[in-house]
Amino acid sequence: MYTRQGVFETAKEFVADGRARHFGISFHDGPELLEQILTEHPEIETVQLQINYEDWDSPSVQSRRVYEVATAHGVPVIVMEPCKGGQLVNLPEVAQRALDAAPNPEGLSNAGYALRFCATKPNVAMVLSGMNTMEQVEDNVRAMAGDPAPLSDAQLQALRNVHEAFASLGMIPCTACHYCTDGCPKHIMIPELFSDLNTKRVFGGWNPGWYFNNVHTVDGHAKPSACIRCGKCERECPQGLPIRQLLTEVAAEFE
Ligand code: SF4
Ligand code: SF4
Repeated sequence: MYTRQGVFETAKEFVADGRARHFGISFHDGPELLEQILTEHPEIETVQLQINYEDWDSPSVQSRRVYEVATAHGVPVIVMEPCKGGQLVNLPEVAQRALDAAPNPEGLSNAGYALRFCATKPNVAMVLSGMNTMEQVEDNVRAMAGDPAPLSDAQLQALRNVHEAFASLGMIPCTACHYCTDGCPKHIMIPELFSDLNTKRVFGGWNPGWYFNNVHTVDGHAKPSACIRCGKCERECPQGLPIRQLLTEVAAEFE
């Protein structure tokens, strides 16, 4: 589609006439397509990739493999979603225990761990971090001040243990980007329903069921069982989630 619309030619034109100073792309797909794009378009100066320790070896996001493709082409990487939409900041208890087991002489916060993991990779030029409060800004600055040291082997092992903890809880790795919701003919609040299910699986209790019934399936937003399985949402999901299957799990839990 981008080729048909002349996106690359337009970007080159913008750089040539000074309307843009640099040409980079934001990328949500697999290593094979990135390889093809960077081979056909050596004019690309940077690529923005979803990288975080939870997605590093994930079969859907493939952070490591797309990072390696960019590196092999000598294209610096800008990191998006280093904290995975906040999931690596507010860890469930079992994951928090895994992280706390590592020696942490600098007193890194959970976000600090996530930022360091990305920022100390040699081909990372920049890490984008979403911050809502002054406290978060200060914490991010603390983690990145000076010349941030790479995480120790014990700390990296702790991050792998956090990954195992997430897997054991069966949490859906949705980043709440909402790319999937615009085209849904049933206006299903997909990321919110996944969040309800994650909360239920991690914390239990009545609260996620209340949100499901009173906030996330009202005002024209259908319940997950109303999904007609058209698949539009899955074509938009940068995480490659099997949304239709996951919605049946949400329905089984709450309906
Ligand atoms: S498959 Fe279901 S959730 Fe996805 S867009 Fe279609 S109706 Fe909506
Ligand atoms: S597109 Fe995928 S990751 Fe984004 S909100 Fe929808 S299900 Fe979650």
